[in-house]
Amino acid sequence: MSEVASYDVIVIGAGPAGYPCAIRAAQNGLKVACIDEWKNYDGSHTFGGTCLNAGCIPSKALLESSELYHRAHAEFAAHGIKVGGLEFDVATMQKRKAKIVKASTQGIAGLFKSAGVTGLQGHGKLLPGNRVEFTALDGTKQEFAARHVVLASGSVPMELKSVPFDGKNVVDSWGALEFDAVPKRLGVIGAGVIGLELGSVWRRLGAEVVVLEAMEQFLWMADQQVAKEALKHFKKQGLDVRLGAKVSGAKQGKDGVKLEYADASGTQTVTVDKVVVAIGRRPFTGGLLGEGTGVELDERGFIQVDHECRTAAPNVWAVGDVVRGPMLAHKGKEEGVMVGDLIAGLRSEVNYRAIPSVIYTAPEIAWVGLTEDEVKKTGREYKVGSFPFMASGRARAMEAPAGFAKVIAAKDDDEILGVHIIGPMAGELIAEAVLALEYSASTEDLQRTIHAHPTLSEAVHEAALHADRRAIDVPNR
Ligand code: FAD
Ligand code: NAD
Repeated sequence: MSEVASYDVIVIGAGPAGYPCAIRAAQNGLKVACIDEWKNYDGSHTFGGTCLNAGCIPSKALLESSELYHRAHAEFAAHGIKVGGLEFDVATMQKRKAKIVKASTQGIAGLFKSAGVTGLQGHGKLLPGNRVEFTALDGTKQEFAARHVVLASGSVPMELKSVPFDGKNVVDSWGALEFDAVPKRLGVIGAGVIGLELGSVWRRLGAEVVVLEAMEQFLWMADQQVAKEALKHFKKQGLDVRLGAKVSGAKQGKDGVKLEYADASGTQTVTVDKVVVAIGRRPFTGGLLGEGTGVELDERGFIQVDHECRTAAPNVWAVGDVVRGPMLAHKGKEEGVMVGDLIAGLRSEVNYRAIPSVIYTAPEIAWVGLTEDEVKKTGREYKVGSFPFMASGRARAMEAPAGFAKVIAAKDDDEILGVHIIGPMAGELIAEAVLALEYSASTEDLQRTIHAHPTLSEAVHEAALHADRRAIDVPNR
């Protein structure tokens, strides 16, 4: 093993937390390398981590294709468009998805090149004294020195001991993105973000989908008014969501996979052809830390960091899914960018109170800030304004009147505390609310902001007006 180079910064992991960190550090004039070991099913190695290869991007590609099919099937007639002989082809959908993923991951390699980041494919291991052991894909080892090391090793799916993955009939989210045919009966364990998004994809294409959720409460992390509305629509779409269902085992037989679970009425079974286990993800630090680095993990395996993503070891930082906070690509990206700036001696911070969440179902769900229950717990007096998409001219024209926008604000100084949207393009609409929270805006700020007509964004405007019972397009009840 020989030392061939030293860097200002070595980033381990080129997912949405690691690669932006490497690029920002390089933009700041630092000499940067980014090491990544991601391996695809076909044996190829690409940058981009979970998000680009097996998460955000491929799931959105399939959500888009399946939604288009569903709309052609179920909604075009309302527009007076007659579609005869409508069919879909999973192989073409999968090819389109693969093309989008390839363009995205190759894009990272291109960005590294233009920013001057050395992208290295292989395994990185932190050693004491800010040294990094790099094992290339061909097994050769080198040792690098770095002034700063950033750990961005991401997360992996959690396993359910009673329903172990077999890579064929019991799969994780990546496996469920790769099905080459629509399963007749699909079991989804976990009604979280992945369960609902991937359950929707395969339901829209005709699978019978049963979703088993351990909690009694649906979408416990979302505003419960939104959760209630969402459950109503998902059930109407045919997602068979069973709450309070504690899965205890799976038996594979000739008829498929028989899942056993317990709910309030006792032991139940359901037989399906494929099972997706989507019960959350855990931080991944396998082979990342050598002896005596000083980096500390918490009891759940997350790398411990302070609010600026510094670990317990000097000049070692950690960002993204491997540290506390929501496991979201944009949260990791902002942490990566912050660290890329802090290392260069610039000021930076992440506003953890203004991280948006989006669930890309139909209707889409998006929120930022506190839910109504969370506001209640603070004891602060608050007001709520809401606006149904049914009253939006644009939503009606789009044949997408489901859902509403909801703004929660403090009674004393009118500060916006949370915005929750369920409805068309909610994930796009939430950006305005994120900006509002970033600027500590009031509902009056939103009320006085001119929104183009007819747009979906008027729903957020009207919800802000409704908080003071000054809405124009809905009765002020
Ligand atoms: P990762 O993306 O996991 O990247 C870590 C990288 O580090 C990987 O390439 C890994 O191989 C590499 N690595 C690990 N250890 C080493 C090592 N020792 N040496 C070298 N390389 C190493 N989030 C959203 O915000 N929006 C979405 O729509 C969304 N959709 C998702 C859909 C699915 C199906 C899934 C599974 C996740 C989704 N997420 C979404 C979550 C998102 O993918 C993660 O939050 C994000 O990828 C985390 O980024 P990261 O850089 O921290 O880690
Ligand atoms: P999640 O935490 O969103 O949901 C997991 C669900 O599984 C929860 O509702 C939980 O109560 C349930 N559960 C846990 N154990 C169970 C059991 N034994 N039986 C039945 N249900 C059980 O996790 P996920 O859906 O796996 O997603 C993982 C991460 O990826 C999340 O943190 C999410 O933020 C991220 N992600 C984000 C997006 C997005 O931003 N649109 C999309 C996909 C994934």
